[in-house]
Order: sequence, then structure tokens, then C-alpha cells
Amino acid sequence: MKPVSLALVGVGKIARDQHIPSIAGNTAFKLDAAVSRHGRIEGVENFTDFDEFLKSRPDVTAVSLCTPPEVRFDMAAKAISAGRHVMLEKPPAATIGEAEALSEMARKSGVTLFATWHSRFATAVAPAKAWLSGKDITGIKIIWKEDVRRWHPGQAWIWEPAGFGVFDPGINALSILTALLSDPVIVEKARLEVPSNKRQPIGATLRMRSAAGVPISADFDWRQEGPQTWDIEVTTREGVLRLSKGGSEMYVDDKLTGTGPDREYAGIYARFAELLQNGESDVDFQPLRIVADAFLCGENVLTDEFFD
Ligand code: NAP
Repeated sequence: MKPVSLALVGVGKIARDQHIPSIAGNTAFKLDAAVSRHGRIEGVENFTDFDEFLKSRPDVTAVSLCTPPEVRFDMAAKAISAGRHVMLEKPPAATIGEAEALSEMARKSGVTLFATWHSRFATAVAPAKAWLSGKDITGIKIIWKEDVRRWHPGQAWIWEPAGFGVFDPGINALSILTALLSDPVIVEKARLEVPSNKRQPIGATLRMRSAAGVPISADFDWRQEGPQTWDIEVTTREGVLRLSKGGSEMYVDDKLTGTGPDREYAGIYARFAELLQNGESDVDFQPLRIVADAFLCGENVLTDEFFD
């Protein structure tokens, strides 16, 4: 089959680290254009203006939006109106309203919309889901602690409204959680720590439960120096499953049972190709809804100034 002509939009950290190599490694796609005000990709046509790109390159049938969430809706809406298929980096939009509007627009226009959650494609997530199938879960504990200075240098947008703060990485844990559980997740209580010189949380603790009553806790922190922690522990009556390193390692009762090379973004592009081939969309906004609920019911606590 002829490869799908694709444009990358927002040539920043994730576009360079993951999207460009993953597209290069997938014969279903051909990278034909890039749209970015400052970033450029060698060997393809580069645009600095999204409208200009849409007008000049009707042959590019799909766009992968790697911009921050705050500016994603307008670009996605324009792309859908122009009949292009759209892949959204996580989080899919700045609000649930935007996300749902995009989903409806894509449905009406008959184009594919893929709201990606890269962590769901981590090596051990599918095996963990299989192991948990039919087991009686009694509790889930998420600990997601990393060093914002190491992972987000110079990214001012992340501290601004719609930047998500510590929920930018935290939503990855929630995307795994909601992939593992078949029940909806309900936020009961949240505590959001916001540095007095910032506008988004640097730390958050959430108390949640599944609709069936399984207690779930999450501890998100951006101040962790040294070893980084991206763990989800699921206690069942038949043993304890732990996903470590963001879902790349699986342990059962502390015994390593699964690991493998990083295939998250390869998995995303394979899924996008499948959706395009079948004329389908994949839009699960549950992780975004949990974050929104945490902001809605959360208690804000001001903390010391933070300098990144
Ligand atoms: P980034 O390094 O800041 O890159 C985003 C790019 O978007 C910028 O380089 C910028 O390129 C463009 N952009 C357009 N409008 C912008 C605006 N108003 N403010 C800032 N940049 C704007 O961010 P990133 O780390 O690649 O993250 C982008 C998205 O990917 C986020 O939603 C993030 O959650 C997700 N993601 C990131 C990672 C990661 O490890 N960094 C991992 C997974 C997912 P121009 O200036 O050239 O237009």
C-alpha cells in the first residue's frame, strides 16, 4: 500500500526524540512536511504557519500534533475541517470540552482522530492487563516522581494554564491505570501543591476509587532528584503486580516477569496506521477527565518558590 503522507507539527523535544525516528521506522508513513515556528526537519518541506501548510499541501493527508496542549485544539480543528486525519500527542487537549468537540468534528468529517497515550504502549502494560484479567483487585498505588529540571528544561508552557504542571507526566500513569481497569475511576480527594511563583502544581496527591470500590492512590511529584520513580502497584488476592519504569518492567510478588525494549512510539504509529486503514478513530479521554476532576475537587496548597 502507498504510505500515508504525514506532517509533524511542533518540532520540539518529543518530535525529535520519538516521532521522527518512529515515523522513519514505519513503512506505512512518509514524512513529507513539518510545521514549526523555530524547529525544522531536514529533508522535508518546512512551514512556520499552519494555515499556509494546509493551503499549500493538500497532498499531506495526516498530521501529528506535537505542540503543547494549549494550542492543540485550533490546529486540530483546522486540520479536521481541511479533511486531514489527526494524531494528538497527550494530553489530547487543554479541556474535556475541546477534546469532545474534536471527537465530534472528526466523526462528522469522516476523518481519523487518534488521541494517543504513549505509556499504554509500554512493554509491560499489555502483559499486566492480561495477568490482572479475572483477578480480584483490592488496591492500587501509583508513585510517579521525577525531576522536572531534568525532563522539561526550558519548557515555560508547562507551568502556565493548560500546561498541566506535574499532571503532564502524571497523566501517563493515569493512562496506564485506565488501561488496566475496566471500571471508571472516580476522584474522591486531591491535594495540589503549587509553588508561589508558578501557576501549575509541582506535586499532587490523589485519592480515588474504581466504580466497584477499589481504593486507588496517586502521588505525583516533580521535585525528585536522583533515581526516578514511575511505579504502579496493583494488589490482588492472588499476588502483587508492580509496573516499574513507566510500564517497561513487570514484577509479580517482586519477581521480574516481563521487560523489553522501548516500543511506545513505534506502537503509537502502528496503531495510527491500523486506524487509518480501518477508517476508525481512537479517542479515550478518561485520563484527561481524571485530571480535570482533580482540579475541580482539589485543595490548592501554596508552597515555596521553585526555580527551574
Ligand atoms: P516542547 O519541547 O516545548 O516542544 C513543543 C513545540 O511546539 C515547541 O518546540 C514549539 O515549536 C511548538 N509550539 C507551538 N506553539 C507553542 C506554544 N504556544 N508554546 C510552546 N511551544 C509551542 O514540548 P515537548 O516536550 O515536545 O512536548 C510536546 C507535547 O508532547 C506535550 O503535550 C507533552 O506532554 C507531550 N510529550 C512530551 C514528552 C517529553 O518527554 N518531552 C513525552 C511524551 C509526550 P516552535 O517554537 O518551533 O513552533
